[in-house]
Parts: sequence; C-alpha cells; structure tokens
Amino acid sequence: MRHLAFLILHTFAVVLLMVHHAMAASPLHFIDTSFENASPLDWQVLADQTVRIDLIYDHERDSPNRAAGHWHFRVDAEPGSQLTLLLNHFSNVWNGRSALACSDATIGFISADGMTWESIETEFIKDSGQLRFTVTIPPGGSLWVARLPPYRISDLNRLLDQIRGHSQVEITRIGETVQRRPLEIVRIGRDDAPYRVFIRARAHPWEPGGNWVVEGMIRHLLKTHDEQSATYLDQYCVYIMPMANKDGVAMGRTRFNVLGKDLNRDWNAPPDATLCPENAALERWLTKMLDSGRRPHLALEMHNDESGKLHLSRPDATQFEAYIARMHRLESLLLTKTWFREGATDPSFRNSGTLGEGWLTRFGIDAVVHELNANWIEGLQSRPSAEHWMTYGEQLCDVLDAYFKAAE
Ligand SMILES: [Zn+2]
Repeated sequence: MRHLAFLILHTFAVVLLMVHHAMAASPLHFIDTSFENASPLDWQVLADQTVRIDLIYDHERDSPNRAAGHWHFRVDAEPGSQLTLLLNHFSNVWNGRSALACSDATIGFISADGMTWESIETEFIKDSGQLRFTVTIPPGGSLWVARLPPYRISDLNRLLDQIRGHSQVEITRIGETVQRRPLEIVRIGRDDAPYRVFIRARAHPWEPGGNWVVEGMIRHLLKTHDEQSATYLDQYCVYIMPMANKDGVAMGRTRFNVLGKDLNRDWNAPPDATLCPENAALERWLTKMLDSGRRPHLALEMHNDESGKLHLSRPDATQFEAYIARMHRLESLLLTKTWFREGATDPSFRNSGTLGEGWLTRFGIDAVVHELNANWIEGLQSRPSAEHWMTYGEQLCDVLDAYFKAAE
C-alpha cells in the first residue's frame, strides 16, 4: 500500500516536472481571456511545446445538446516566436445528435491589434476532432486569435451612437437579457412605409456574420445624397434586432443564452419570460406590431454555419405553397443581386422550432433562417471578412427593393 502511494506521488511529481519544463522552455507567457467576447477556455503547454487549448462547452437546459466552436483569445508570447496551437473540444451535440463543430474547411482569424483581422488556414485532425495551426507572434508581443472577425457589444454601441438622432432612425428598447443588458430594435425608414422587413442577428454568439450584414445595410440605407437609398426607404422600412444573445456575446459563448436556452428554438410556443427574456421581449414587440396592423412582410433570421444556405420553413403538418413560391423568388433575387450562391435548402430539410418556422406557423409571417457560410464565399471566391459581409448588407437593400416591387 505504501509502495503504491509512493508510486502515485512519484508519477504525479514527474508529470508536474514535465509540465513545468514544457512551460519554462515555451515562448508563451499567457493566454488572455479577460476581455469582452473572449471565449472561456483552459490551456496547457504539451511536452512537444504545442499549446493545447480546451474550449469550454455551453450546455442546453433539459437537453443533451452542448456547443463549443467559438474561440477568441489573446496570446502573449515572445515577439517573433512561433507557436503551434491545438484547439480541442469540438464534440458538440446538436439536435440530440453528435456533431463535430469543425471540418477540413474550418478557417480562423488572427490580428495584431484586435481590430483588423486576416484569415488563416487550420489543419483538421480527423481522428481526434481537433484543429491545429501555427502562428507567429508580432513585434508587440500579443496576437489576437478568433474563429471569425469578432463583432462585440461595443461595436454595436459605436454604430448605435453614430446613427442615433438621424431622422430615419428610431432605436427602441424592448427589454433586457438575463444579465440585464438592454435589447433594442432599430427601425430604419418610415413607420408608414408600404412594406416592413424584420431582421434578427446574433441569436448564436459564435456567429457574427449577421451583425456585419446589418451594419452594412444600415449604413447603406442612411447614406445621404444617395438617390438609390432614398428610393429604398420609400418602398420599405427595416426593423432590426441587431444582437439577440448579448450575454453570450459578452461572455464569448458559442450558442445558448446564459440559462441554457437556444434563442433559435422553441418558437412554436410563446417564449418563457424567465428562461429566455431575449425572445419574450421580441415576442412582446411583435405582438404590438401585429395588434397595430404592422405585420412584417418578411423576416430574416441571420446565422453562420459551414453550408450557408437559405432555410425555407417547412413545418411538417401544413403546406405553405404560396410562401414557398415567394421564398424561391427571394432566393433568385439573392442569387442574381448579391454574392450569395448557396441557394435554398431542399424540400426534405427540417429544423423545427426556429424563428423561421415559428413565425410562419403562429403568425403567418414569411420567415426564413439565412445562414452565411463561415469559411468560404463562393460568389466572391474568397474567404469571409467583415467587409464582404457588410457588402452583402448593401446588396440586400437592392434585393428587398426588387422583391417588394415585384409583389405590387
Ligand atoms: Zn446559428
């Protein structure tokens, strides 16, 4: 017994010594996750100097579902040194099924200042479901690393401060998140415009694409001395919920709100005001719109994934042929007037409980989930960037204009 205890202690000491030696020889000083939108993680320098980064899953309430896939952290290390990072814990559970949150296609982004980002390739290790890539530490001694170009609450606040007070803008506080962050709807255009569009971004914190799209759209619609933009706002106004899951964004989470609710699920019933006040606030706002005769003519729920398709709502029980026809018209306008090439999901695709399905079945609103491919923009033959997504927002203005003109 005493011998066994000695052996365990001895082994423990050897492991500690190995960790100590790996760390002592490594150019790495620290991985900083203290800032806004940084992702929770654990890290360790392995014997071969690789820095293993274990992402932390966020979990869904009353469900086996869990998600990790967002990463955003700052590496502090010797300037000029090279570090190999090994990202771990992509074994997600999605809709009750095992699903790896990375693939051969997965890219990452790096930045020397935390503001301007460039994409990098990653090596997908299939057997272990991990991602590996090597980075060079810039002269400043710090390198920011992220899954996608981050869009933080501070980025949103900067935009809102710039447009507040504009004659075509109304910013309405509709409620607050679990952690009491304000939730807003931004209206661009006249309340009495012939057509109304609703757009929600950032139900899932790891997916910033929709935020960049709505920023591009807002800036385009508010361009002064731009005849085209003025015409758009004669035709339609846009109601934007720019950041649904603010708590998740602040805390660098991947998918759920802080009480384990997926804000793009359970829309087939009224939202629980305690567990997901983010959705309850939105539904209160929508109810007021409907009660005052201002039903949105179209609703877009913006997301990122690795396919980038337009998800037509196809609730099991009912056929919505006229809706499907209108959404195919929207799809063809997207294909001709923007860089979108991925097209609509095929008729067998189901994803029940999304805002798209819930709003169609419960309120008769033409609603779709719009995914943006997180790794590749086929129409531009380019990797995504904040600029490309903002361009998409500009192009969407033209799509909506044509969509409603054809409806008349
Ligand atoms: Zn999503």
